[in-house]
Amino acid sequence: MTAVVIDGRAFAADLRTRIATLAAEFEAKAGRKAGLAVVLVGEDPASQVYVRSKGKSTIEAGMASFEHKLPADTDQATLLALVEQLNADPAVDGILVQLPLPRHIDEQTVIATINPDKDVDGFHVTNAGRLAVGQPGYVPCTPLGCLMLLKDKLGDLAGLDAVVIGRSNIVGKPMAQLLLAESCTVTVAHSKTKDLPDVVRRADIVVAAVGRPEMVKGDWIKPGATVIDVGINRVPAATEGKTRLVGDVDYAGAAEVAGAITPVPGGVGPMTIAVLLRNTLVAAWRNAGLNLPADAI
Ligand code: NDP
Repeated sequence: MTAVVIDGRAFAADLRTRIATLAAEFEAKAGRKAGLAVVLVGEDPASQVYVRSKGKSTIEAGMASFEHKLPADTDQATLLALVEQLNADPAVDGILVQLPLPRHIDEQTVIATINPDKDVDGFHVTNAGRLAVGQPGYVPCTPLGCLMLLKDKLGDLAGLDAVVIGRSNIVGKPMAQLLLAESCTVTVAHSKTKDLPDVVRRADIVVAAVGRPEMVKGDWIKPGATVIDVGINRVPAATEGKTRLVGDVDYAGAAEVAGAITPVPGGVGPMTIAVLLRNTLVAAWRNAGLNLPADAI
């Protein structure tokens, strides 16, 4: 193996330490804690785990966590009323509605109801627009975490060829916008892309956000490239009845060729919650009219 392993767990832990320091500074200045409200509708087991973990991390960072758990049959009007109430609550800096929502609720309507200045997930069209035109706003946590890892590893990204595989609103598209803002030459690949291996071979930076286990092979990678694997796929393990997590990249193959690579687990995954805390803290400083020290987080 030639690639340097990008340790997302260590980077996220360091980021959380810096967030905790700034959260304490915020509390001293504002006279209240920065607050994140998380709304969960229904009993989806994976969502319950995420919500619990977000709440715990928020408290560990010295911020206030407001959890709202609603039954699966909650109607849309009730959910929208809760979002409006959180929009108006000065103790709440960030609002996150855990997705997916039950089928009888329209996700876009719910996201559109969140005040864009409390939209710490960065899913509101106002924040997508702000990202596209280069205005301050909130960027989806996973791609922002990927960018932080890339800048930490590579420094200035200007002029590098970046290929993003995947064009979802929550990962692929904002990732492409972030890399463009860093002056990369960006290609966005998707399920209709022709000759994907050849497209990926041009890349100095590969970000894989596809949802297909180990799809990106080692011989698709340009020697020395930096590979960011966003994928989280559960596949059968060698032991019968067990499963294991793999990314969208064939890690063993790619690590032979790449200059640096994120593992799964332990790469991008730990960054997502850390960036959620970061976005919430940024929202708190902005919403309180305070100036966050430049480049603090
Ligand atoms: P989506 O399913 O929304 O998007 C997948 C994208 O991959 C689509 O744009 C699709 O193209 C493209 N795609 C599918 N098949 C191919 C193919 N054969 N070749 C090229 N492109 C293809 O997924 P998400 O963006 O939400 O998530 C992507 C992965 O990242 C998943 O594994 C998910 O679990 C993981 N994830 C991890 C997070 C983390 O915290 N680490 C957070 C969020 C996601 P098209 O648009 O043409 O259909």
